[in-house]
Amino acid sequence: MRHKNINHVVHEWIIPYLKDNQTIVDATCGHGFDTKFLSEQGVNVIAFDIQIEAIEYSKNLLKDYDNITFIHDSHIHLERYIEHCDGIIFNCGYLPHSDKKVITMPQSTLEAMSKAYSLLSDDGWMCVTFYQGHDGGAQEMKLGSAWMREHLNIIHEYTYENVNNPPLALFGTKKDA
Ligand code: SAH
Repeated sequence: MRHKNINHVVHEWIIPYLKDNQTIVDATCGHGFDTKFLSEQGVNVIAFDIQIEAIEYSKNLLKDYDNITFIHDSHIHLERYIEHCDGIIFNCGYLPHSDKKVITMPQSTLEAMSKAYSLLSDDGWMCVTFYQGHDGGAQEMKLGSAWMREHLNIIHEYTYENVNNPPLALFGTKKDA
């Protein structure tokens, strides 16, 4: 049976949590798929990417949207740009059809998740999609998913059945809310 696209599943999870005027971080902007979706829901989006090509591509794609701030920097520096956020989404791995050497890394992903957590509002959420196909991806999924299960109330999770090394998406809300 064909499975539902994991990126679309994640968007369905997020919709009920969004309210006008919230600030949501897209920690891995890439080609802007999540940023576009969030922007269209009416929230303010802060989109990070370390690759200038990704930022330029998304800026151009989304030039008519006025509720997005693009930041060309690593998400481990997110506290330099924002004081608080209501939700944060990560889509790990590499940018499709691009340089497969620029990937999210287990340690920096963990560091960014932990910093993001401390900036989350009390009813904030975090949503992360992990992939195993790239260098360090299996480790990133193992450490990142364990961290999320420890620190968040996991509300949703999704993976592909009957697929080798499938991706994993987790959605959780802040525990000490
Ligand atoms: N959600 C995107 C795909 C993300 S791919 C889409 O829908 O198109 C992962 C992205 O994370 C890549 O663009 C890569 O450049 C970026 N990235 C990798 N490490 C990063 C880091 N430390 N900080 C910010 N972005 C990073």
